[in-house]
Amino acid sequence: MKEEVYLSERFPDLAALKIALDEAVAPDATRTQWIASCPRRAEYALDRQVKEKGDALPLRAGKGLHAALDTFYTTNDQDLALSALQASWGPEAQARNAPDKSFGHLHLGHLEVVLKNYFEYARLRDMFRPIIIKRSDLNMENVVGAVFRLTDAGEVILGESKLVMEFDVKGDKFLYAGIPDLPIEMGGVYYILDHKSTNAYLSEWYFNQYKFSNQLRGYCLMVQELTGLPISGALINGIYIGERASLDGFKGERFSRYGPLSYQPAHLHEALLNQYYWRKTFAHHRAQGYFPQHASKLCSGCPFSALCNAAPAARESALQQSYESVNVKFLDI
Ligand code: SF4
Repeated sequence: MKEEVYLSERFPDLAALKIALDEAVAPDATRTQWIASCPRRAEYALDRQVKEKGDALPLRAGKGLHAALDTFYTTNDQDLALSALQASWGPEAQARNAPDKSFGHLHLGHLEVVLKNYFEYARLRDMFRPIIIKRSDLNMENVVGAVFRLTDAGEVILGESKLVMEFDVKGDKFLYAGIPDLPIEMGGVYYILDHKSTNAYLSEWYFNQYKFSNQLRGYCLMVQELTGLPISGALINGIYIGERASLDGFKGERFSRYGPLSYQPAHLHEALLNQYYWRKTFAHHRAQGYFPQHASKLCSGCPFSALCNAAPAARESALQQSYESVNVKFLDI
């Protein structure tokens, strides 16, 4: 398997694209959602560019499982998938540990059990095939940068492809980046399968948060533009990684598929428009010199709650004590 880094003529090198992504501030759906959720969170994460000190273990676990599932659905080799998890997790991850000790169960052995159970679940449940498409069949018109993985036969494995595209939104050039998890074909219909690992029990309530996801709809639009295939919606591939997930006797749902969430073409464009205006909102708060706190139920899971909890006059010292700079790398999205 080979990797191809593609750059349009507009960007002579990766550095130029990186600058454009930095200028966009929130070039991907995850960051745009931070603006939508809470302007103050956007200030800390995007303007001050800080994160909690230490490892965020749920994030690391999610990355590891993504790497493993990518390998699994690319090669159908379980051992290689387990190796991908181990490589992504890294030997030192546990030692650094998370700022929040409640995630102490997230260690490599636990995730390996989750993954081995998933292989059996997938064997019984997977009724789809990943979309693989000839490189020459891709429509590169809107693509300004990409990292593709190619088979020896020159076909593109679309799962986990890194894409930076430019869309015309309200007459503006809108730079938009994303890594769709796994574009699939199921029963002659095309979808995006999105892996979501969670420490919460899997439930309808949990999945409902993704019903109108700008991120999923944005992925659908990107893959549709790139492949010319009509993408009808998304499926969530829910994976429970809470502390009971590796117990033999756990009776709850370890894995669950939710959807398909059906989208109309207009939904996809609306998602892009939403993100276009959320970015403008960020620029507005920056120009005003104040990012208001949303101060809602979202605060309970927010990595910046310690910062907001500190008295405004003590916030800079709280920031120095518990947070560190984060350097976003090219396509680190
Ligand atoms: S703790 Fe609440 S108010 Fe503060 S940044 Fe997070 S979501 Fe916003």
